Amino acid sequence: MSTSESPQLQQLYINGARVSASDGSSIPVVNPANGSTIAMVSSGSAQDIDSAVQAASAAFKGEWGNAKAGDRAAALRALAAKIRENIEELAMLECINVGKPLSSARGEVGYAAKVYEYYAGLVSNHGGLTVPVSGNGTGLTFREPLGVCGLIVPWNFPIVIMAWKLAPCLAAGNTAVVKPAEWTPLTALRVAELAVEAGIPAGVLNVVPGLGQVAGAALSAHPDVRKISFTGSTATGSAIMKACANDIKRVSLELGGKSPSIVFEDADIEKAAASVMSIYDNTGQDCCGRSRYLVARSVYSEFLERFVANSKAVKVGDPLDAATEIGPLASRVQYARVDGYVQQGMSEGARLCTGGGGPSNPALAAGCYFEPTVFADVTPNMVIAQEEIFGPVVAVIPFDSEEDAIRIANGTKYGLSASIWTRDVARALRVVRKVDSGVISINTSSSVHLEMPFGGFKQSGIGRELGPGALDLFTEVKSVFISGE
Ligand code: NAD
Repeated sequence: MSTSESPQLQQLYINGARVSASDGSSIPVVNPANGSTIAMVSSGSAQDIDSAVQAASAAFKGEWGNAKAGDRAAALRALAAKIRENIEELAMLECINVGKPLSSARGEVGYAAKVYEYYAGLVSNHGGLTVPVSGNGTGLTFREPLGVCGLIVPWNFPIVIMAWKLAPCLAAGNTAVVKPAEWTPLTALRVAELAVEAGIPAGVLNVVPGLGQVAGAALSAHPDVRKISFTGSTATGSAIMKACANDIKRVSLELGGKSPSIVFEDADIEKAAASVMSIYDNTGQDCCGRSRYLVARSVYSEFLERFVANSKAVKVGDPLDAATEIGPLASRVQYARVDGYVQQGMSEGARLCTGGGGPSNPALAAGCYFEPTVFADVTPNMVIAQEEIFGPVVAVIPFDSEEDAIRIANGTKYGLSASIWTRDVARALRVVRKVDSGVISINTSSSVHLEMPFGGFKQSGIGRELGPGALDLFTEVKSVFISGE
């Protein structure tokens, strides 16, 4: 990756080859830790999306579309092995492109390899049913691939979220056009090259970076794309769903969150207050980030004091420094967005307990760094308690009863993740049943498990990624009846 004055051009990846954008356009890829341009990336047009879809259609009709489940599984295992062989290169790309601490980036690349292996292991068991029909004969169902799928990926976990979509998509026998986020396309392009090295035929995986309004919109509207799988903001998810409605494309959406962590008076307060990385991990750019702590009024002061102290102890710094716990935000745009919400919180009357802007360390001045930020005495209707900030900013809100906690927890348009902190098992299960959330953790903030469905209620999305069910999202069911006469 070049850091010289004329950065290297990263071209699109279509049909097993690097190609420039049809209109010659490109966009800079910037390291958020220091503002340097690390690459230029070709910015795909509607014409480039069409070329990629044609390549994917041909691959679906060819060797890949006809491959047996066991062959596809072997190919995905080979891709996982290639990812592991290249873990240092991929982790460094993710580190300098997204601003992740290098150790976290390494973990994410290794985890992406596991996702490909997991779906390689599942696909041979993903068959249909024999159905005891009431008619005279035998009922069978088949699970069949959809065809070309468009996978639109955000910038917060580029290699991981691409794997969540691509692994079940390819395992089920589909082909793909991936549209990475404009800021963070580098690992997607490299994985496409590794897929061909791993023996996956050219055209099965195409990667077209570019602007959402151009390349992303063209992919969502393309008549030969049978499904869009999207992760990102709720507003963009809504636009994609509308585009998919025109030709009844299948669509699954993993959208935003404003996830609550509910701390009851009988909780292990020390442990709950130590869970600060539930919001600061990935510099708060995590759809599951626990951006609201709802705390029983009787333990509010004690909790807040501990939580603020733990927040101050989080090490913000250069992603290449092994001691760093959180790096910069992923871009200047995101910095401005987070800063705008912090200003709004102060003008609404929330009490800023720590953070609120960039660190004072002059060595970090050129980067998009943002201090862990805690607002206390937040009321549930404040904008900072309602909207997804996607930064290291948490609103701590007091509550007076279990019913009050549930009402506040459910009082946003989102429903992705939640945590419940209590020693009372009966209460934990009672509250689980009443909180509108796709994922709920008890006495922890750990939300996402490869083997379990992941997705949201309400405006946090449609469909569930991960777990065995993700293969259903990438297949059609065909019912077959064989006459017994
Ligand atoms: P976004 O939703 O606009 O972008 C996500 C992806 O969608 C990118 O690849 C983008 O190019 C593409 N896209 C944008 N417009 C499109 C369109 N009209 N048709 C098809 N694809 C399109 O997110 P953003 O603007 O980069 O970030 C804004 C906010 O979204 C963030 O601050 C955060 O709140 C939220 N967000 C959430 C997640 C998540 O994991 N749920 C991820 C990223 C961003």
